[in-house]
Amino acid sequence: MRDVNIPKQGSLICRGQGRSYGDAAISSQGQVMLSERLNRFLAFDDSTGILTAEAGATLAEILETFVPRGWFPAVTPGTQYVSIGGAIAADVHGKNHHHAGTLGVHVTELELMLADGHRQRCSPEKNESLFWATLGGMGLTGIITEASFRLIPIETAAIMAEHNPASDLEVTFKWLEDTDYDDQYTVAWIDCASARRHFGRSIVMKGHHARRDELPDDWKDPFFVPPLCSKSIPFNFPSFVLNRFTMAVFNERYYRHQGRKKGSFITDYASFFYPLDALAHWNRLYGRRGFLQYQVAIPDPYAHEGIRRLLEHLINSRQGAFLAVLKRFGSANAGLLSFPVAGYTLALDLPMTGKKVLNLLQQLDELVIKYGGRVYLAKDACLSPESLRAMYPRLEEWQRIKQVVDPERRFQSDLSRRLQLAGTL
Ligand SMILES: Cc1cc2nc3c(=O)[nH]c(=O)nc-3n(C[C@H](O)[C@H](O)[C@H](O)COP(=O)(O)OP(=O)(O)OC[C@H]3O[C@@H](n4cnc5c(N)ncnc54)[C@H](O)[C@@H]3O)c2cc1C
Repeated sequence: MRDVNIPKQGSLICRGQGRSYGDAAISSQGQVMLSERLNRFLAFDDSTGILTAEAGATLAEILETFVPRGWFPAVTPGTQYVSIGGAIAADVHGKNHHHAGTLGVHVTELELMLADGHRQRCSPEKNESLFWATLGGMGLTGIITEASFRLIPIETAAIMAEHNPASDLEVTFKWLEDTDYDDQYTVAWIDCASARRHFGRSIVMKGHHARRDELPDDWKDPFFVPPLCSKSIPFNFPSFVLNRFTMAVFNERYYRHQGRKKGSFITDYASFFYPLDALAHWNRLYGRRGFLQYQVAIPDPYAHEGIRRLLEHLINSRQGAFLAVLKRFGSANAGLLSFPVAGYTLALDLPMTGKKVLNLLQQLDELVIKYGGRVYLAKDACLSPESLRAMYPRLEEWQRIKQVVDPERRFQSDLSRRLQLAGTL
């Protein structure tokens, strides 16, 4: 057990790899504790696949060590540059949420450093209210120092993938819900530059961990670990490069290019799960002003209508999104602030254009609330406290637990203050 010291005074927030898009892991009025050096693997049981690691260990480190032994994280987000602590605090989901749920449901035990400096273990069976408040609790219940979680066995490190163009939004929904079509990992990239008869057209991308007998004879190493990124965007692109015209061209080209890959094909896991990791500083493509990620979940039975209305509103606003990803979510878990709910999730990358895009997001928030949905806190930068309350019905339950474990509100971030997450008292 390593020493982790909570400062005697002032507020504190823990930071993992800083991959949350908004202000969850920063604090302009307090201290930020970096967790990178808390990165040892402590135990691995190969009869259950349960790995115990310090919370600063990254997915990249786990992949590098465990893929060659035939194990893979049960749930992975779209980047391997996240810490386990950060991924649990956001209760991240992956392309397999409709089958596997969030990372949190594969966590068997956590060790937390509480505000008073005591270490406390919690799990779905022990101190369960603290456990479910910590999954998705954005670092505000305490510092996760260690976690035990399940890895899944794989026969190879490759992915058997397939891309299919869907002509409009209805076809996209149909495929994402078709259990015969579905695979272990399924997601749709939406061309949100197209309106009218192509409205909501997409490339539906699916895949599974390839079996040995699916690998081509010339595939050299079945447990090949792709090297980490070597290319980098060296400078901020000028802002004028990203405009409605270039976004429409990008979307058209991407749709044609990805749709051309007919039939199934074998690819390495990094190309399938982590396309953005291949390019360090990819955010510089958005120029100095950057961009906003906006991810929402809309529950069944309103999900189709809600997603349709959100996309229509986006297209009518004439502010294109560079990337839009649609995915079916399975059931919610017991995490009080966990984001996924059974239905659909839509993630958008929107160039930062100041008031224009902020107004748009406010209008989208209203639609999300109307359809009973919520915004993902790990990606949020703009939500208001009122909208948060309308979106997360178990917020008050979470606040009561926060009050018990951190009565002086030692754990605070810019996100928690902006959203008055711990309440106004
Ligand atoms: C390219 C890209 C793709 C992504 N794809 C997905 C996706 O598919 N699905 C998804 O769910 N998310 C996705 N994300 C979001 C990302 O997975 C989450 O934001 C995750 O929390 C980032 O982990 P981190 O270690 O960088 O945490 P940070 O950003 O550093 O922190 C995130 C939160 O976790 C808290 N935290 C960090 N470490 C600890 C700790 N040890 N104890 C307690 N709290 C802690 C912080 O206080 C903060 O509130 C993506 C992000 C990027 C950049």
